[in-house]
Amino acid sequence: MQRKKEPVLGFEVDLYSFEEALQAVNGYLKENKGMQIVTINPEMISLGKKNSDFGRILNSADLVIPDGVGIKLALKIKGIEQENIPGIEFSQKLIKLCELENYTIGLLGAKEEVVQQAAKNIRQEYPNLNITYIRNGYFDAQEQEIIEQELKAVAPRVLFVALGAPKQEFFIAKLKEEMPSTIFIGVGGSFDVWSGLTKRAPEIWQKMGLEWLYRTIKEPSRFKRIFPALPLFLVRVIIEAIREKLG
Ligand code: UDP
Repeated sequence: MQRKKEPVLGFEVDLYSFEEALQAVNGYLKENKGMQIVTINPEMISLGKKNSDFGRILNSADLVIPDGVGIKLALKIKGIEQENIPGIEFSQKLIKLCELENYTIGLLGAKEEVVQQAAKNIRQEYPNLNITYIRNGYFDAQEQEIIEQELKAVAPRVLFVALGAPKQEFFIAKLKEEMPSTIFIGVGGSFDVWSGLTKRAPEIWQKMGLEWLYRTIKEPSRFKRIFPALPLFLVRVIIEAIREKLG
């Protein structure tokens, strides 16, 4: 399937629907190919602008999913209607697919008790799923080398990496060449949700696209991360759209 992409402030975002994005990954699974999936948000784009190494990683990903209303709004400003694809829901669908088609998965990230509880809950929900690697996300450089060796030996078909951005993207980029048959996806705080430790926003907040606001109210330390990044991001997108219109 040919990628339909649109740059947002210089970073390519795939314009797939939820289902198309899942089918794209399914294609890689069927062909036994590896890939890097990025679930992108405005904070990551702002960071990509500041940190060129991170920016390069974002633009070399094989699939970039618009995660959250920020990107959806940015595309709307550019005249494109795009479905929001929450990374956590996409990952759940991917897990379901792995159970159905017998692909192994690995979970790397979050605190030890969180990743263990998340694995337990996933196993309960998907009893036929084969989880072949579980590791918490707190390690030093020496331990990272061991983790990399272990991962290469186990080579799960899909590896969910929950180290938060940009750490997870750097981790994946370093490893993906050496693990050509693994599909990597950075999933941020998803393990915290799957473990039951953190609750997602009530559905009504999700539907209104205000999950970020709910999380910020619950966890005020996120405020500093989101503001002024979000309004600034949208202003930049508007300026970019005007420039494009003026040719
Ligand atoms: N984390 C980790 N190792 C680290 C730093 C963070 O495993 O060195 C985990 C942390 O426990 C949490 C996730 O990474 O589960 C980051 O979640 P956050 O909600 O901050 O990420 P976001 O979704 O905002 O990218």
